[in-house]
Amino acid sequence: MPSKNDLDIHYYNITPLDPKGHLFAVSLIITRTGKNGQKISLPSWIPGSYLIRDFSKHIIDLQAETLTGKTLTIQPIEKSIWQIDASDEAVKVSYQVYAWDLSVRGAHFDKSHAFFNGTSVFMAIENQREFACNVTLSSSKHSKAENWLVATTLPALCVDSSGFGEYQAKNYRDLIEYPVEIGNFLALNFKANGIAHKIVFTGQIERNKLDKELLIKDLTAICETELNLFGKPYPIQQYLFQVMVVNNGYGGLEHLDSTALMCSRNNLPYLNDEKRSEKYLQFLELCSHEYFHTWNVKRIQPEVYQTTDLSQPVYTNQLWWFEGITSFYDGLILNMAGIISNEDYLNRLAKEMTRVYRMPGRFKQSVAESSYLTWTKFYQQDENAPNAIISYYTKGSLIALGLDLTIRSATNNQKSLTDILLHLWQHYGQTGKGLKEGEIESICEQVAGVSLKNFFNDFLYGTKDLPFESLFAPFGIDFTLRPAVNNKDTGGATETTTYPTNLGINFTTTEHQTIKITHVWEKSSSYEAALAAGDEIVALNQYKMPNSQALEDFLKNTTVGEKVICHFFRLDELNETTLTLQSPKSDRVELKISQKMGRGLTKLDWLKNA
Ligand code: ZN
Repeated sequence: MPSKNDLDIHYYNITPLDPKGHLFAVSLIITRTGKNGQKISLPSWIPGSYLIRDFSKHIIDLQAETLTGKTLTIQPIEKSIWQIDASDEAVKVSYQVYAWDLSVRGAHFDKSHAFFNGTSVFMAIENQREFACNVTLSSSKHSKAENWLVATTLPALCVDSSGFGEYQAKNYRDLIEYPVEIGNFLALNFKANGIAHKIVFTGQIERNKLDKELLIKDLTAICETELNLFGKPYPIQQYLFQVMVVNNGYGGLEHLDSTALMCSRNNLPYLNDEKRSEKYLQFLELCSHEYFHTWNVKRIQPEVYQTTDLSQPVYTNQLWWFEGITSFYDGLILNMAGIISNEDYLNRLAKEMTRVYRMPGRFKQSVAESSYLTWTKFYQQDENAPNAIISYYTKGSLIALGLDLTIRSATNNQKSLTDILLHLWQHYGQTGKGLKEGEIESICEQVAGVSLKNFFNDFLYGTKDLPFESLFAPFGIDFTLRPAVNNKDTGGATETTTYPTNLGINFTTTEHQTIKITHVWEKSSSYEAALAAGDEIVALNQYKMPNSQALEDFLKNTTVGEKVICHFFRLDELNETTLTLQSPKSDRVELKISQKMGRGLTKLDWLKNA
């Protein structure tokens, strides 16, 4: 109960109450309300994920009363804002939150665990967002019976050995920075440069078969590489990786000193694995990516992200830097940490580059626009996305790479992208100053001492391809584009030199053995034959096409210009069309260390072990 000295603190209480109904019970004591009553609200989106999600739709049974028990009227005035009657006394608001969204962005609660982001469960008190927020995390009958533990970096005031008890955040914006995981997770502790780090795994995994030693060794190397890259003072006193392990899922969301991740069981390393699997490297890249955000976006950030109001979208061109640069470094860090060789790194980079070269949409949308309109385009992709938009993650990472090569060439390797990153960390990240639109571009020019006006006009605000062949040449790396060798070819090195015709589609195979089109590439043979996303191809030249292998085998024996009869279902109607097979486009990237090294700039320091 608040005393008179605690008027500038809000008191929240959250209990994982009903695992069958997936309901958290939440209460909130507002010590001082406005003269004309009080508005409270819930965010419409969560920082780091640019989609209006209207978390308020999961609020149930909202009530308000004075601390002496007098009922107050509380009613919605917008979809995520409520108005409470004026009151002379402190007010208690209580409600339930339905938590059945198994993602890193929402809240999820059943018999096996409870997880929530503050944006899903904690109401903000209008005009009092700067007040401190106390949170009592209460145990329930179920959590006690299951001996649940708590994993969060929310600063603790007084908690029991399981982690239930009192926590405090500096203000509302801080309160939503610390997701909370509660359950019987597997917890592994390690230190990186002396800082306590923890990774917790929720979900069913074979704990005895997990290669914990390798995982900790790799994570330590990744965290230390990033801590060393940015240098002291370190922005964190502790760090937590909260991992939800599922059958099939992948993603992450960054926070101040933690990250919520989701991965598949096969993303983890097991004792019987002969070497690090591709899936495991993908997981390490995800950890590396989210950890990098500790600096780049959580502290170095656009000015517009420093708003406390999360009711409306905020707009910025700058995601090329915050997601693109982070995506460029996430893989590079694995190489710098000694986890992957130079050759493996270049091959992974080539695959990343291929994801851009395959997209016709890169000529229609600039990366700056992709960032600005992420709310409706990137976060709401439909079947036409490859033809219409470009990702600020993938092309943003190519801009990062191109910028690094350009600056190195122009300064005889004296300056690089890392100098810009460190400048931003010192002058913005450490001081809390936000970045205005266009400011990063001028800082790049200023730090590198190189004119980059054309570079940004062409590749960030324009839609031109970066000239990687010439950008790489002085560094002894050969960049080439080649056609796909089959449907599954994602780019990189290949032994094969035969390139079959292709249909220009992405597809899945169905349970009833058809090829279901998910995307049609513009001007491809399928596009010209008027095939569309959702169509199910049943036969080509009257041969059944039950799966991807059958299609691949069929195409192997065809030639460019050949006409093929295609039977397909659109909805429930059988259709026939004729495909004129095209030669595959050269849209797969290969990178190789050249036999002849360039003049002067023989090595990139990020490939210094070559
Ligand atoms: Zn990211």
